[in-house]
Amino acid sequence: MTVDRQVVQAFEERFGAAPAFVVRAPGRVNLIGEHTDYNDGFVLPLAIDRAAWIALRPAAGRAVTVHSLDFGEVDTFDLDRVAPQPGSWANYVRGVAWALQQRGHALAGWEGVLAGDVPLGAGLSSSAALEMAVARAFAAVGDWPWDPPAMALSGQMAENKWVGVNTGIMDQMISAAGVAGHALLIDCRSLETTSIPLPAGYAVVVLDTATRRGLAGSAYNERRSQCEAAARHFGVKALRDVSVSQLEAAQADLDPLIYRRARHVVTENARVLQACDEMRTGNALELGRLLDASHASLRDDFQVSSRELDAFVEIAAAHGACVGARMTGAGFGGCAVALVEDEGSPAFARSVAAGYMARTGLSPRVYVCRATNGAEIVA
Ligand code: ADP
Ligand code: MG
Repeated sequence: MTVDRQVVQAFEERFGAAPAFVVRAPGRVNLIGEHTDYNDGFVLPLAIDRAAWIALRPAAGRAVTVHSLDFGEVDTFDLDRVAPQPGSWANYVRGVAWALQQRGHALAGWEGVLAGDVPLGAGLSSSAALEMAVARAFAAVGDWPWDPPAMALSGQMAENKWVGVNTGIMDQMISAAGVAGHALLIDCRSLETTSIPLPAGYAVVVLDTATRRGLAGSAYNERRSQCEAAARHFGVKALRDVSVSQLEAAQADLDPLIYRRARHVVTENARVLQACDEMRTGNALELGRLLDASHASLRDDFQVSSRELDAFVEIAAAHGACVGARMTGAGFGGCAVALVEDEGSPAFARSVAAGYMARTGLSPRVYVCRATNGAEIVA
């Protein structure tokens, strides 16, 4: 049974009536633009056809009650006294209620059933999907217009300040603002967004290496400070403000390692903008080449790939249906993303999973994705 049917059926069993609303908010994958967000640069994620769903109805009073089908638990809290629930899925729900109120939204109570098919902790941002589904539920009950940037900022505030996970704005923004068939160019400095059509006839395929980042925290901080050092050299706020030719002209004056780190960020920003141009003209082959170049840059200059990510990308790229592949996310483990001819994508998925398993002994997961709308009321 599909998740939307599941939440509706469970709602009817528990509440003895049909829900007033069914809302969904998707997970995401970043097509290109890695380690650019904290350099005030560009990212190009898409919302995928895996989502968090809530069937709900308004409730009298100030209580919010949510049944989680995935965890088999119920959470009830009072909007006037939201308390943390550390370590629980419910903390994301409560955190969004808290953040929305902190940011001045007047909330009303509701009760509902929650379930999702974004795999948890797999790099597809199930947490942002949950946050935006909860925000969509509050907006539906309060009958306010959907304002993606405002909702994304509330979700990010919940995740950063309530749950305590330090993330950028990308995940919530794409979950709030995605458009079917499109990726979303996000300018991480201005938060301006532009929908860019994905090439027709191609699927975006997520390749989960079944490894998770180990040393990520310290390496991430080190990369950040190297990028800041490079920006200081140019006397600019962030590497976003440095062009490829400016960087090349300064090579002799820069520490060689700092130069390579900066070269990744500066060329990656350029690749994101070029990817948008290629997509606007439907040039899937060029887009694929940009994905390949992004991976090489992340592997060789920024040095945040891993043996498993490199293996999966190499296996994917060697398949005839694939026009490009790269690691996606912070790196050192997690997922890769590939652009694959639609028709060949089921065979691609089987073949590369088998190839990866034979090479590494690990059991990967492969998700053939469609680009969907962001958070919406579906019924
Ligand atoms: P991800 O990379 O998937 O975002 P996180 O660790 O950031 O991983 O978030 C996963 C957490 O989000 C889960 O442990 C759970 O608390 C919450 N969550 C996500 N989706 C759901 C869902 N469908 N139902 C309940 N909780 C969910
Ligand atoms: Mg998350």
